[in-house]
Amino acid sequence: NLSARLTDTFKNLRAKGKLSAADVDGTVREIRRALLEADVALEVVKEFTAKVRERALGDEVNRALNPAQQVVQIVNEELVGILGGEQRRLRFAKNPPTVIMLAGLQGAGKTTLAGKLAKWLRDQGHTPLLVACDLQRPNAVTQLKVVGEQAGAAVFAPHPGNTGAGEDATSGDPVRVAKDGIAEARAKQHDFVIVDTAGRLGVDAELMRQAGDIRRAIDPDEVLFVIDAMIGQDAVATARAFQESVDFTGVVLTKLDGDARGGAALSIRSLTGRPILFASTGEGLGDFEPFHPDRMASRILDLGDILTLIEQAQHAFDEEEARKAAEKLASDQFTLDDFLKQMQQLRGAGSIKKMMGMLPGMGKMKDQLENFDEREIVHTEAIIQSMTPAERGNPKILNGSRRLRIAKGSGMTVTDVNSLVSRFEQAAKMMKTVARGGVPQIPGMGPV
Ligand code: GDP
Ligand code: MG
Repeated sequence: NLSARLTDTFKNLRAKGKLSAADVDGTVREIRRALLEADVALEVVKEFTAKVRERALGDEVNRALNPAQQVVQIVNEELVGILGGEQRRLRFAKNPPTVIMLAGLQGAGKTTLAGKLAKWLRDQGHTPLLVACDLQRPNAVTQLKVVGEQAGAAVFAPHPGNTGAGEDATSGDPVRVAKDGIAEARAKQHDFVIVDTAGRLGVDAELMRQAGDIRRAIDPDEVLFVIDAMIGQDAVATARAFQESVDFTGVVLTKLDGDARGGAALSIRSLTGRPILFASTGEGLGDFEPFHPDRMASRILDLGDILTLIEQAQHAFDEEEARKAAEKLASDQFTLDDFLKQMQQLRGAGSIKKMMGMLPGMGKMKDQLENFDEREIVHTEAIIQSMTPAERGNPKILNGSRRLRIAKGSGMTVTDVNSLVSRFEQAAKMMKTVARGGVPQIPGMGPV
């Protein structure tokens, strides 16, 4: 993968104080190859590597303390940029209902997404109505009704009529159903309408026409192109076909829980100019989140989903605490008190091993995971609690006699105290790395 490649490349560079043009070219070649292997489209790769090369040869790298690190930083920044920079939020209609139409190939995850969106909106106090416009596939209507029920959202489906075919009749006019659905939403005061549409296995003219017709008939506020992140190089052709015939305002990447590294994401965003709004990460209705370009960049670089990890750790304490901690990190005032709080929160979260699983390099970490001892946290607590507030705030004043007093007070040895202080220093360094967007190590875990 890209990260392993870069690590190898940078290993050679690390010793050098400066990067030569040849070093940069070698690195850029590796990035190029890795991106192509991750199914990023060639034209996107070219543009990307050209940008990285230009910056890597520039002043910011020459002046950097660690040029190799700086190049990684540049690669990361450019990746975030190409993925859309800031996160783009869902657009709301000025006059409700906000109409969201889903389009994409069969099996992309549209119907599942309809349920996920409905649940997500309901959790925020909205009243979405799901509209079943997939009249192609047997059971499609029933499937939507099932996810609607799971999400606690109402579903509007075509009336069965008297053909005897039941409500999953594969006849009927999806454009008509879409319009009726929106009328129903107005009448019953739903503030969101999610229109599920049909897909085929491959791009096909009739399907495209139908999706285009629905779009023109209902003029949605958002048309979300739903695409399976695993489809690789086909992603680009599919996205372009949909853009030409239906056009869309945003993209949803599904099946990110699989092995796909997200090369498709890079290509689609870059070639269609349409932002990625959401990421779908499993079959359950909760496996869904707004898309974060920075997280995707980390994923592509295989840095693990560090931000998610941090977020989970923060679940245990309130937002105010989190904000204060972040401020401290940014201003470099991370103290032993903060360290203790973090330890306690990790323990409070209870699922430390699960969180560890989200970090990269799991192979190496496995043993450490097995050896991780929560008693360590209890010892840490005892030591820090034996310190004075002044000592906690400024560990630099911890001389020999203070350390001895603390050891006695906590029932631990001076060696334990020393080891804690050095782990704290490591953690402080790590927190600074995380604050700058790098790869952290976990307090108490030792280096990865
Ligand atoms: P549609 O044809 O576009 O409506 O696709 P469906 O919503 O019916 O989904 C097709 C299959 O993909 C179903 O088995 C879903 O459970 C599955 N699926 C959808 N989204 C995800 C996802 O994010 N991850 C995984 N692993 N499976 C998904
Ligand atoms: Mg469907």
